[in-house]
Amino acid sequence: MNATSPTVRVPQGARLVLATHNQGKLSELRAILAPLVPGLAPEAVVSAASLDAPEPVEDGLTFATNARTKACCLAEATGLPAVADDSGLCVDVLGGAPGIFSARWCGRHGDDTANLRLLLDQLRDIRAPHRRARFTCAAVLAVPRGWAPGGRAWGGATSPGGGLLAQTPVVTVVERSMEGRLLTAPRGEGGFGYDPVFVPASEDAPGGSGRTTAQMSPEEKNAISHRGQALRDLAPVLARLL
Ligand code: IMP
Repeated sequence: MNATSPTVRVPQGARLVLATHNQGKLSELRAILAPLVPGLAPEAVVSAASLDAPEPVEDGLTFATNARTKACCLAEATGLPAVADDSGLCVDVLGGAPGIFSARWCGRHGDDTANLRLLLDQLRDIRAPHRRARFTCAAVLAVPRGWAPGGRAWGGATSPGGGLLAQTPVVTVVERSMEGRLLTAPRGEGGFGYDPVFVPASEDAPGGSGRTTAQMSPEEKNAISHRGQALRDLAPVLARLL
C-alpha cells in the first residue's frame, strides 16, 4: 500500500482534522472529543477550514455516505486521521424529510431561518401527536492510505464503492439519533438550525421541563444530542488509533 501525498499544508503538532468549516461546530466537536481522547490537546485538533482544505460535493443519499466522503477526502488531502459528521432532522409525517436536505430545505444552503419557516408552514395542520421527529448524526473516522499508527500500517476495512476514495480506510462509522417532537412556533435563543422548534423526548419525560434544544446550554445539549452521542461513541476508537 502506498502512502498518500497530502495536498494541503498541515501545521506541526496537528494530529487530527475535523471536516468542518463552521467555527461553532469546531468548538463543539473539540469540547466533546478532547476530554475523551487521552493526550489529545485541543490545539492538535484542527479544522478543514483552517487548512483551506477542499470541500467535496456531498451527493450521497444517506448521512453516512456524506460523512464518509468528507472524512476520506480530508484524510487524503491532509495525511492525517479525519473525523467528519453529517446530520439532519428527520420528520415522521414527512417520510423522514428534510433528512439529508436539512441544510438546504428552502432551496438554498445554510439559510436556517428560511428552512425553519418552511418546515413550520408544511406542518401547520399537523396535530401534536403526529409531530414526532429526530435529529440523526453519522460520524466517520478515516485514515489516509498508508497511514501507520505507531509504525504499523492500518489494516482496517476500505470504503465500498468505486472512485478515487475507494481505497481510503474507513476506521469506523457510527450513527446516533435524538428523538423528540416539533413545536408550532420557535422557542429559545440558543443552538442553530431547527433547535428552536425541537423538544427532545427527555424534556417530556418525568423531571423534564419541556424545553427546546435552543433553550438548553451547549453542555446540556451535547450530553443528549445526536452529535454528542455519535462522537462519544467514536472517541474510544480514536483514543486507540492516535
Ligand atoms: P450538517 O451536518 O452540519 O451539514 O447539518 C445539516 C443541517 O441539519 C443543519 O444545517 C441544520 O439545519 C440541521 N441540524 C443538524 N444538527 C442540528 C442540531 O443539532 N440542531 C438543529 N439543527 C440541526
